[in-house]
Amino acid sequence: MRDHLRAFYRGYHAATGRRAQQVRRLHIMREDGKFAGKQGLCGAPGWGVTHSPPVVIDPMPEEPPAGLDWCRACVGHASALAGRLDAHAAEIARISERKAPVPAAAADGPGVARGSSAPAPPSPGASL
Ligand SMILES: [Zn+2]
Repeated sequence: MRDHLRAFYRGYHAATGRRAQQVRRLHIMREDGKFAGKQGLCGAPGWGVTHSPPVVIDPMPEEPPAGLDWCRACVGHASALAGRLDAHAAEIARISERKAPVPAAAADGPGVARGSSAPAPPSPGASL
């Protein structure tokens, strides 16, 4: 991994001066492999297309420029590259727990699969 990461977004439409419709995401540049420096970690193309050159921000900023949001896929990949994926997942789990407190009555009951994104399976005791 490089000592820093770059970010990029697709530029404005050169002819109209307006931001292209699809330009809402700030991606993080892939720095290794076949497409190093040419695509985002999510696979988004980072090379210029007609009237839409890429704008590279080197190194990646702490916050995206106004009007743009981080590409969620890129941030996830970058988190893993930085060795922070587990920590971020744990943080999200804590946030989720704070946002969705389990009522005291339900907390004691069986079959409450907290922390699982999968639909809760039927309670084993329900059908027996
Ligand atoms: Zn991306």
